[in-house]
Amino acid sequence: MTSRLFHSALLRVTAIYLVIILMISLIFSFALYRVSSQEIDRGLSIKKIPTSQIIDPRRAEVIYELRETQQKLADEARIRLKANLLGLNLFILVSGGLVSYLLARKTLKPIEEAHEAQSRFTADASHELRTPITAMRIETELTLTEPDLDLKQAKDQLQSNIEELDKLNNLSESLLKLSNFENNGLVKEAVSVDHLINQAIERVTKKAQQKNQDIAAKNIVKSQLHVNQQSIVEAIVTLLDNAIKYSPNKSEIKVTTKKQKNNIQINIVDKGLGIDQNEQQYIFDRFYRADSSRCKTEDDCGYGIGLSIARTVAEAHKGTVSVKSTPGKGSTFTLQLPLS
Ligand code: ADP
Repeated sequence: MTSRLFHSALLRVTAIYLVIILMISLIFSFALYRVSSQEIDRGLSIKKIPTSQIIDPRRAEVIYELRETQQKLADEARIRLKANLLGLNLFILVSGGLVSYLLARKTLKPIEEAHEAQSRFTADASHELRTPITAMRIETELTLTEPDLDLKQAKDQLQSNIEELDKLNNLSESLLKLSNFENNGLVKEAVSVDHLINQAIERVTKKAQQKNQDIAAKNIVKSQLHVNQQSIVEAIVTLLDNAIKYSPNKSEIKVTTKKQKNNIQINIVDKGLGIDQNEQQYIFDRFYRADSSRCKTEDDCGYGIGLSIARTVAEAHKGTVSVKSTPGKGSTFTLQLPLS
């Protein structure tokens, strides 16, 4: 579908470019023909001798023949000029077609890429939405076919449905946020780094307390950033949320900052599960979950969308988000944002 759409758009844009090139070439050829034609006439015209001065009939015949020859030469020159211009326009038609095609490809490339990314995203998102919905449906059907279904089993089933619905709700909210961040420009304002970090910590404190984890903010620089507050807080919350999720109970999570020449680094350090070296490059991709076997069984695991939102937010601020991690020892996620 994408390629059919792209090809018809490519042909249309190629045709438009070609028509423009041909129009310019035809206008130019017409003007050239007019000017050259006038020049030919001027160059070949002989000074008119008044008929009264042509007394000698032989002289009159020579002049007449000369005029005839000149007229013929002028006509031939015009025909040659026309042929040359026709050849030139045919050449421009062929080479212009090729140039138009290449130009059209270049023009449409970013649109094609965006369209492909959008289609991939829709396919991935619908797959992610379908999986829990199917699971929920099968579970509910099985419960309904249970002949001796008691109240507790029914309640358990309903509770499990609510949990799945909550997760689906979170996923759809995340997808909406992602598309908002990608499609709308972010309104930026001056905010202090510690204010951003404090807001994020406040949002996850309850979750950390449930796992008896302590979140310590250390060495927070006293700097201001020009950012979209809501989205940056959201990105820090995602990193903290993951640190909580993927670290054992009672472990410590640290938030530190570092001021560099042109940017500020916000580090979220955990002593959790860590991430395999070969998986680290993929965890920022949409719907990617490292160590999927673990995530398939645990309720706590998300949909692999949080880090891709964090990356989108960082990039919208001309910043980056990166990870250093050792399996079994922990991870450090770094959100780097430019100072100016
Ligand atoms: P999810 O909602 O699955 O956590 P994310 O996009 O936030 O999605 O993260 C992608 C994957 O990266 C996670 O599934 C997890 O395997 C891994 N991950 C992210 N943060 C951490 C962390 N602090 N420690 C260990 N693994 C992590």
